[in-house]
Amino acid sequence: MKIGFIGLGAMGKPMAVNLLKEGYQVSAFDVNRTSVDEIVAFGAVGCSNGGAVAASSDVIITSLPNAGIVETVMVGSEGLFSQCKEGTVIIDMSSVSPSSTLKMAGIAETMGIKYVDAPVSGGTKGADAGTLAIMVGADEAVFEKIKPVLEVIGGDIYHVGPTGTGDAIKIVNNLMLGCNMATLAEALILGVKCGLKVETMQKIISKSSGRSYAMEAKLEKFIMKDDFEGGFAMDLQYKDLGLALEAGKENNIPLPMTALATQVFESGRASGLGREDMSAIIKVWEKITNVRVAGGE
Ligand code: NDP
Repeated sequence: MKIGFIGLGAMGKPMAVNLLKEGYQVSAFDVNRTSVDEIVAFGAVGCSNGGAVAASSDVIITSLPNAGIVETVMVGSEGLFSQCKEGTVIIDMSSVSPSSTLKMAGIAETMGIKYVDAPVSGGTKGADAGTLAIMVGADEAVFEKIKPVLEVIGGDIYHVGPTGTGDAIKIVNNLMLGCNMATLAEALILGVKCGLKVETMQKIISKSSGRSYAMEAKLEKFIMKDDFEGGFAMDLQYKDLGLALEAGKENNIPLPMTALATQVFESGRASGLGREDMSAIIKVWEKITNVRVAGGE
């Protein structure tokens, strides 16, 4: 099975490297020529556009920044759809809206192309280690066909349902992460202002009903170290909250907590924190309240 890969960024490059290490033949393209050169050094065939990738692949994986770019890569003049053979499977691993995926899948169907959404969770660390959680929206037969490929990239592979459902669960998950992180930041500020040590809150709340993944993953590793390098960029969290709001609008579902969390992270981005881990939002509250949490005791 020949694999095509488009989008060799923080997530895509390590995924493609893992496929090459497993012995797959990979044809790759990215608008950034340096990224293509880097993957060629690992044994991939470098291509000059998406169409060229499509012409030589049975399964094509995309890992791109947003839905607008995914749509251009699919339907643009040098895009994938222009060169795909009938029966090709496209797996989009980007975080995008279900509606955008369904639009692409509809066009793909008319051309005999199978279109799968398979967004991931686990960050660049999981991409490097090949342990990502992958949430797949696909027909059963297509899922079985691509499962061996996904098992190289991820550790937990979930077949959620038909095309579009992978994106749906990804945005529901990240909606919860964003709201939990925004809540954790303001709660820590209040706790310190009321005389609690950060360590005390960590110890007791991690065994109590207020605990969350945000606290487990972000408090000790980022906030208590006062170091927000790496991790999950605030810009990406903000993007995912936007996808949830978009889906809410399309489906007439009110999402007041999501809207609030979005504005919290908007203030973080306005403060220049967009590229830091999302937990850097604590710095905004520290500035407003003159309460110091980061760094711990
Ligand atoms: P990056 O921006 O690092 O990578 C995207 C890559 O796609 C870049 O190399 C970019 O090049 C390239 N690209 C942009 N436009 C095109 C195009 N038209 N044709 C071909 N290549 C193009 O993003 P990530 O790898 O971080 O994220 C990829 C997806 O995974 C996103 O949807 C993100 O939300 C999701 N995700 C990311 C996680 C993370 O921790 N980073 C975790 C979970 C999901 P250039 O930079 O030159 O524009």
